[in-house]
Amino acid sequence: MKTASDRLAFAVQFAGTDLDSLRQGDWTNLRDDLRRYMGEGTGTLADLGGFVGLSSTTPPKTTDSELHKLQAEVDRVLRGVVVEAGREAGGGPRVRIQRGKREPTTVRWSAYPQSPGTVSLVASGHLRDLFVTKLYFLLGSVGVEAVQECPACTRLFTRAVRHQKYCNRKCASKVNLESWLSSPKGKRYAAAQRKAARKRYERTVAEKAPGAKPAPYKPRKKATRGSTGTRARSR
Ligand SMILES: [Zn+2]
Repeated sequence: MKTASDRLAFAVQFAGTDLDSLRQGDWTNLRDDLRRYMGEGTGTLADLGGFVGLSSTTPPKTTDSELHKLQAEVDRVLRGVVVEAGREAGGGPRVRIQRGKREPTTVRWSAYPQSPGTVSLVASGHLRDLFVTKLYFLLGSVGVEAVQECPACTRLFTRAVRHQKYCNRKCASKVNLESWLSSPKGKRYAAAQRKAARKRYERTVAEKAPGAKPAPYKPRKKATRGSTGTRARSR
């Protein structure tokens, strides 16, 4: 984690991580990353997102449940900015957020002179307040458009390449497949597949239970789009 973009990417990833699935080592890594996000180590203030965050509750002292709470907060704050911004830009809103919601933070600032002509800016306070303040700084410097909401699964992600539309390959191919299946060619293909499957089934019945009547065809219930990964939407 070196640049401001790296830090923003970490915050977005953190917001979308399934903390319940983390193993012991993953928790350790998460705490290390949180310290780096706050500004542990060296880097210019621009890289650090404007300031070094110092908190009495900075990991490793932070408990798992505090991190759960922090994560929910980060996800909410990010969505408040990203989804609203997307709506302003004409993107379709998929998650409704109260417009202009206030996110109060209490942070104490101190500036320390560094090498001639430079100053180090240090903020102290609660982990949540520092995290959110830094997040706003990062969104301001890196740009809100760096964070996108995946139209397939509603997870937030930062683009690895320009014009990336979906959070990962799985979501992209899922949507591509869906749109192809709803095209005339795709519909014909799906119908042919169903017919072939039905034939196979009837042949199996005739082989394994001669004389038995095959069960009538029952169309499978269609899975609704984005039925997986709706953690964020259910809130
Ligand atoms: Zn996705």
